Amino acid sequence: MKSPGLSVRPIINMANSKGLCEVFCEDVRVPVKNRLGEENRGWYVSATLLDFERSNIGAAIGNRHSALDLVKHIEDAGWPTGQPDEHVRMELTSRLIEAEVGRLLSYRIVSMQKRGLVPNYEASMNKMFYSELSQRISWTGMKLFRTQGMLLEGSPNAPRHGSAPRNYMMTIPQTIAAGTSEIQRNIIATRGLGLPRG
Ligand SMILES: Cc1cc2nc3c(=O)[nH]c(=O)nc-3n(C[C@H](O)[C@H](O)[C@H](O)COP(=O)(O)OP(=O)(O)OC[C@H]3O[C@@H](n4cnc5c(N)ncnc54)[C@H](O)[C@@H]3O)c2cc1C
Repeated sequence: MKSPGLSVRPIINMANSKGLCEVFCEDVRVPVKNRLGEENRGWYVSATLLDFERSNIGAAIGNRHSALDLVKHIEDAGWPTGQPDEHVRMELTSRLIEAEVGRLLSYRIVSMQKRGLVPNYEASMNKMFYSELSQRISWTGMKLFRTQGMLLEGSPNAPRHGSAPRNYMMTIPQTIAAGTSEIQRNIIATRGLGLPRG
């Protein structure tokens, strides 16, 4: 990170969260001892790293926790404005079932990695599923908390310390980062289902 020509510009996202940056490399020279693998094979290193990034089995656990946290809110605090309506209850049930599906997709990844295989379209299935599910869970949360769901962290009446709007804003970029859902669908279609390129 101290190499001449390398500069980092922080980006603050709409949830006011730091930790995301633009990194510029201008004529940066990398010593040959730091090269990964063979010369001119960098794309294959990057593609394998993307497969690992999309394998992210921790995301299934995160989704499960987020869905269970919504259930816990109903159980713990009671519901200030009466029980959530039937539609939201059914939605929350679907989110919990989907979180289970995410867990099973992760088991497939783990079992492949344990056998020394690199999941490819399987990792794309996992990534697309967990990122789209994280958005559905946060949207269900917003509906569950009704108007109070818009209160941010620090507001005395914010349910669950303002987690609903924070999760909502933080999950929007999930279907872009690590490759958009469209790119994952392309990989599943071509490498998973053997369909021709469009
Ligand atoms: C929160 C966050 C964190 C990130 N972290 C990192 C990081 O740590 N490191 C890093 O290198 N990058 C990071 N990124 C960048 C991220 O990988 C890219 O934003 C992402 O891959 C999309 O590329 P793009 O923004 O250039 O969109 P584009 O590729 O310009 O895509 C624009 C639109 O066109 C669609 N599209 C593009 N190509 C196709 C195609 N062939 N078929 C169908 N549709 C297509 C896309 O789905 C999208 O809707 C991060 C992004 C976000 C939002």
